[in-house]
Amino acid sequence: MSASLIADNLLRPFQLERSTLRGRVVRLGDLVDQVLTRHDYPEPVGRLLGELFVLAATLAGGLKFDGTFSLQIRSDGPVSLMMADCTNEGAMRGYARYDEARVAAASGSDVEALLGRGHLAFTVDQNQAGQAYQGIVELSGPTLTDCMQTYFRQSEQLKTGLKIAVDRIEAGEGARWRAGGIMIQRLADEARGDFRQEGGDEDWRRTMLLLATATGAELVDPHLPPERLLWHLFHEEGVRVFRPVALRFGCRCSRERVENMLRRFPEHELDDMKDDDGDVVVTCQFCNVDFRFDDAQLARLYGRLH
Ligand SMILES: [Zn+2]
Repeated sequence: MSASLIADNLLRPFQLERSTLRGRVVRLGDLVDQVLTRHDYPEPVGRLLGELFVLAATLAGGLKFDGTFSLQIRSDGPVSLMMADCTNEGAMRGYARYDEARVAAASGSDVEALLGRGHLAFTVDQNQAGQAYQGIVELSGPTLTDCMQTYFRQSEQLKTGLKIAVDRIEAGEGARWRAGGIMIQRLADEARGDFRQEGGDEDWRRTMLLLATATGAELVDPHLPPERLLWHLFHEEGVRVFRPVALRFGCRCSRERVENMLRRFPEHELDDMKDDDGDVVVTCQFCNVDFRFDDAQLARLYGRLH
């Protein structure tokens, strides 16, 4: 199989030649499975977080930045916090904070039941220039994709078509999470600030009808490479695919970062953080790795021992 047919953990920009509309296709295999099984999220929480991962990748793929693009949701529901981010080099990570009992008792698995009232915010952290605020949208609609669509509808400059799927697929040794999505966008005419152009609306409607025919099964199918899916949906539109970006799980935690964080606490406050063994244990929310510090290590941290 040639490199261009690698079907998983990638983001691939494309253009439809007939309409010059541009888009991105995203496919996540073991990347999303790793994230969702490492934390053993309940099924509905896994689905939400998987959707957020696809959103983060598709949105990041449309931006030029040198740093990290992140999506964050804060809400008052059983799932109170969710994050997914993606660096310009394709390293992704994310997590969800939730109340197990409330998730189990939730009346459904949509945004309203699991997240309740809240906001979805996105930011770009530039390595050189610091944080640049990008946008925020109130959660409204049954899926995160709907919430994102609302944001783009309110934005004057960008029309967006979006279809995302997350599923667990039987893979021999047990079910594995998979996720995928396609985003198509149309920029407003820069000079006029509107979408009017020759045949533009007709092109948009036709493309959205074609996008709507993509099934959830196709979006995550491990045997259907993203390029073939695009061709299958849009062959009459003339699909041109650009160089894919490989996506991978990548946490940026390190013992050194944890040490720097601990040093910001007064030493006596660390006593309250100690576990039964007398150690301070800091767990990375993203990758679930423990960083353990015993008394000698803490003393060294505070410069009492060398
Ligand atoms: Zn980590």
